[in-house]
Order: sequence, then structure tokens, then C-alpha cells
Amino acid sequence: MSATTSVAARPAAKVSEDNPYGAMLARFHRAADILNLDRGVRAVLTTPERELKVAVPVRMDDGSVEVYDGWRIQHNSSMGPCKGGIRYSPEVNPDEVRALAAWMTWKCAVVQVPFGGGKGGVKVDPRKLSRGEIERLTRRYTTAIMDIIGPDKDVPAPDMNTNEQTMAWIMDTYSMHARHTVTGVVTGKPFALGGSLGRPAATGRGLLTMVREAATELKLDLAKASVVIQGSGNVGGTAAQLLHEIGVKVIGLSDIDTAMVNPKGLDVPAVLKHLEKKHTLKGFKGGDLVSNEDLLRTPCDFLLPCATENQITSKNAGKLRTRVIVEGANGPTTAEADRILDDAGIFVIPDILANAGGVAVSYFEWVQDRHGYFWEEREVNERLAVLMRRAFANVLARTKQHKINMRTAAYVEGIDRVARVTSLRGLYP
Ligand code: NAD
Repeated sequence: MSATTSVAARPAAKVSEDNPYGAMLARFHRAADILNLDRGVRAVLTTPERELKVAVPVRMDDGSVEVYDGWRIQHNSSMGPCKGGIRYSPEVNPDEVRALAAWMTWKCAVVQVPFGGGKGGVKVDPRKLSRGEIERLTRRYTTAIMDIIGPDKDVPAPDMNTNEQTMAWIMDTYSMHARHTVTGVVTGKPFALGGSLGRPAATGRGLLTMVREAATELKLDLAKASVVIQGSGNVGGTAAQLLHEIGVKVIGLSDIDTAMVNPKGLDVPAVLKHLEKKHTLKGFKGGDLVSNEDLLRTPCDFLLPCATENQITSKNAGKLRTRVIVEGANGPTTAEADRILDDAGIFVIPDILANAGGVAVSYFEWVQDRHGYFWEEREVNERLAVLMRRAFANVLARTKQHKINMRTAAYVEGIDRVARVTSLRGLYP
């Protein structure tokens, strides 16, 4: 396949370090060089298939009207329906959604689930909205993107600041328009509405498998290991709980405005209980308050960034004192930080492998919805562990084959699979 005038085949324009799409492209081209991908395939794989920008007007509780910007971007659907979360955050912007959509494409291929990549977001700070306002925003956004989502087209899921309830509203809105209940339009729904047992904890559980696999590979004793986790939401909070349960010491934890450390180990169940009650870590007494920067610099064996993008950059990568990074968040490390981490000998399990547990169980949920037959939680967890261990082993094998780090190997693994399918399918017409 060759291209002559495509936009994406041109080298990426110089973008700032914190541009997530730039970070995705830098890693993409590194892997594409190793795979010897031709220009045409590169152009196809670096150009999102569809980008929908929508306006989301919302009647506020005081009767006024606010209009929010929303997006749904489908990066690539050659493997199957697009799949990816919906994020509510004041930081949401088109390049972020583009990057997150592309990461979903590679992630689904790495963990071998039959989906492409998509992502959505609304630029809003949901902490400033009431529950009713968030429900109206969700229903209006769903209506705006309705034409391009569906169980066979594009299946959203929760991401930052969205949850089971958000998915329930999306499912209900879509079903009202379809005139029948369509459970498979979203994953991460409540179990009562066709959700899967094990889905809420799936991303955190996948991280646990990654920690275990890394410990085996690097011969680290988990009984003596310490962990620092940035972010204590669905991903970080669950990872903290599961690691604590197997006896790993969690010595640092944070949320958006509080970070705390306790070298003796935090009482994780107590922290999570506090968080559930107060919706903030503020006021928890069992640790010393530190800055976000100091949290990341805390000496530990495993650092799990589970909050948001661009937390490990060229500015702080050289100051980290960890042996392993397991990326729970999407894009927590910039492309410029990669080399610094390599030089420091830090073993990085990249986002598109490490946090793939969520999409793996989303796949199980979609399968269960289509069958109308639901599995025991034990079965979900066992199948998840199989997928995650296989993906880790495949990526590790690529590191040895090409003498590259885990991040580049994961991109090589994912991109190779999608590129093969692209070539097999050929171009229509
Ligand atoms: P969440 O909203 O449940 O939790 C986010 C956590 O990060 C909270 O503790 C929040 O206070 C903190 N945080 C947010 N912004 C921050 C900032 N600027 N600095 C420091 N802390 C900040 O979200 P989540 O679902 O746990 O997702 C977290 C990350 O994991 C995101 O990057 C998301 O894309 C990724 N991810 C989520 C899933 C999933 O299944 N939920 C799956 C794969 C990847």
C-alpha cells in the first residue's frame, strides 16, 4: 500500500512534550520502523477514521443553560467495533481524545480482543455539576453521538469521572431511541443492567497480574516490595486494595489534591473507606502529606501512575527512585521521558499492556450481553488473568527478539497485528 498526498504520512509536526497525540505518534513511528511498515499503512494507522465534535447544551438546576464541547473519535475499526471510554474533565481536548482512541486500538490488539479503538469526552468539570445536571449532560451527549455508537459499531465504557451510573444513563438513552433495550451498547454497566461481574475491578486486577509477572521476570520478592500509587479512583484504588490483600506494602497514595506516604505501609482498607465517605483523601490521618512531585519521587519498588496523562516527563523522570513502573493511567509518561527511564534501567510496563484488564473484561461483558448468559466472577477473573499473562509474555518475547524496551515492544505487538489485518482486508474499493 502506498500513499502520495496523505496528511498523516507526513512526519508529525513538532508538538509540545505534553501533547498526547504527539506522544502516541512518536512511539508509533519507533515501532513502525522496526516493523518496516510502508508509508501507506502508516498513513492509514495514524489517521483516525472518524471524528465527531458535538455541542452539549444542558439545562442547569437554576434554569440557566450551559453548552459543553464533546467529542467521540474512532481511530480504527479494522479488528471490530471501536471500543473506548468516555471521559468528563476540564482538560479534554481533541488531541487527547485522538491519542486515547489510538491507544485503545493498540491495546485491544495487544490483549487480543476483537475491537478497534475509540474514545469520547466532554470538556466539563463534573465536580461543579449536580447529579441531575450530569445525568442531563450524559443523555444529551449520548443523543449527539448516537448515530456512530452501537454494539456493532462503537461501544463506550467508563473513564475518568464517569462510572457505572453514567453507563446506565447512556444505555437507557440509546435504548429509548432504539425502542428496545440494547445492553451491548456500553460496557462497565451495573450488573443488574447486563454488566459483568468483575468489571469494576478489572483494570486494577490486570495491574496486579502485571506486578506479579514483572516480579517473576525481575526476580523481586513481593513480600518485601513497596508500592506507590498515584490516583485512587477506579484503577488506583482497586490496585491498592488488591496489592494490599496479597501482602504488598502500599506506601504512597494520592488523589487530585492530596498525596500521602507512610513508609511502614498505609492502612489501605481504612484509606479507601475514608475516600468512599468523604470523596477526598484529605483528613485521613494514617500518612504524611507530601506534594504530588514528592509522591512520584518516593523510593519504592513499583510505581503505579493511575491518574492521568503527562505525570512522568523529561523534567522529573530522572528523579524517580523506583525499579518498575506499571502504567495504570493512559499516557502517564511522555515520549521524551522514555529514554531517561531506559537509561535509569527502570522496567516500564506501558499503558497499552498494563491497563488492558479493563477492556479485556469489557469484551467479556459484551460477549455475555450478546449471549444473554452471564458468567461467575471466578470465571471472569480467571479468563482475565489468562489474557493478561499471554499479552505480557508476547510483549516480553518482542523485547528479546528486537532488543527493545517493553513500551516499544507493546507498540510493535499491537501495531503488527492491526497492520496485518489492514493488509489482509485490503482497501475498499
Ligand atoms: P477515576 O476518575 O476513577 O480516578 C482518577 C484518580 O486520579 C482520582 O483519584 C483523581 O483524584 C486522580 N486525579 C485526576 N486528575 C489528577 C491529576 N491531574 N493529578 C493527580 N491526580 C489526579 O478514573 P479511573 O477510571 O481510575 O482512570 C484513571 C486513569 O486510568 C485514566 O488515565 C484512565 O484513562 C485510565 N484507565 C481507566 C480504566 C478503567 O477501567 N476505569 C481502564 C484503563 C485505563
